[in-house]
Amino acid sequence: MTERKIPSPFVNPENKPFWDAAAEGRLLLKHCKDCGQSHYYPRALCPFCFSDNTEWVDAKGTGEIYSYSVMRRGAPVPYALAYVTLDEGVSMLTNLVDCDLDALAIGQRVKVVFKPSEDGAPVPMFAPA
Ligand SMILES: [Zn+2]
Repeated sequence: MTERKIPSPFVNPENKPFWDAAAEGRLLLKHCKDCGQSHYYPRALCPFCFSDNTEWVDAKGTGEIYSYSVMRRGAPVPYALAYVTLDEGVSMLTNLVDCDLDALAIGQRVKVVFKPSEDGAPVPMFAPA
C-alpha cells in the first residue's frame, strides 16, 4: 500500500514541546490549572477560560472515532480524515491509518501512532486499537 505524503508540521515556540515529544513517540496535551480542562491543539492560552496557567501533560494516546470521512477524490492515495475523542475528553482533527478504510466505524477504539512527514518529523495519527 502506498502511503500518503504528510506535510511537515509548522513548529513555533508555542507548540515546540508538542513536536519534541512527538519525535519521542509521546502525545502531549495542554492542561489548564485554572479550569481543569485539557485542550488540543496546544496553545499558550486556555481556549475555555483564557488562562495562561497551563501545563503539558502526557496523553494516554487512546480514544474513539467521533466522526470520519474517507477522501478518495483528488488525493493520490485514499485516506481517512477524522475527529478522534481522546480518553482525556479532548478532540483531535487527525488521520486514521493502518486500517481498512471500508471497515471504520464511529465509536471504534483507536490508539495513537506516529507517522513520518515529508521532512521526517513524526506526526500523531490514529490506528484501530
Ligand atoms: Zn482554563
